[in-house]
Amino acid sequence: MSLITHLVKLQEIDTAIMEIEELQGDLPSRVEELTSTMSRLETAITTGEARLTEIEVEIRKMQTLEQERKDKIAKLQDQLYLVKTNREYDALMAEIDHLKGQLDEEEMRELELSEEKDQVSEKLETDKTENEEMSQQLGTQKKELESRIAETEEEHTELVGKREQLAGNIDNPNLALYDRVRGAREGIAVVPVANHACGGCHSRIPSQLEAVIRGAERMTQCNTCRRILYWEEADDQS
Ligand SMILES: [Zn+2]
Repeated sequence: MSLITHLVKLQEIDTAIMEIEELQGDLPSRVEELTSTMSRLETAITTGEARLTEIEVEIRKMQTLEQERKDKIAKLQDQLYLVKTNREYDALMAEIDHLKGQLDEEEMRELELSEEKDQVSEKLETDKTENEEMSQQLGTQKKELESRIAETEEEHTELVGKREQLAGNIDNPNLALYDRVRGAREGIAVVPVANHACGGCHSRIPSQLEAVIRGAERMTQCNTCRRILYWEEADDQS
């Protein structure tokens, strides 16, 4: 095999390896994204549940206070029949009014708490449903990822082995050049000439240079992107 044939084969293998690694690389990040959304939801659920407990305690406290207030008011109202002077009557009435005012405030507070309780409960239910759906999704994706990795792992190992073998047939300066161009050009260092242009950057190839490439006389690079060029025999490029 000539140098250029080796390089073309090496590029094929490297492209296949890249595709496999992309496939393996995409799923973990999706799983990670789902996991972090889930942990945000779990925090929201924990916070919501704690608030709900607090609200329930506060509501019970309010109800106890209200009952005490009502009992006291009833007691004072009974005393109204027993008073003998206007002054005593006025004093009792003032106290009753004061207690009624406090009762109003407590009932208002209880109402606010009930409303908050409804809101928190509703949000909690939505979060829980979403969390459940997410954990199902995550389970499926994890399984999918594991099976895909298992499927591709073998192929990956095989390709890496082939690559090593093939790279051993290429002299170091050319291999270094190939790796350098590949690093600079998104993994593609070797491209065919297509329609008198570079298959990588589409710059026009002068006809003299094209003849050199076609004859595979020496290794040739694109003047614009520095990719290594080759002639694809199967194509009719007259
Ligand atoms: Zn080019």
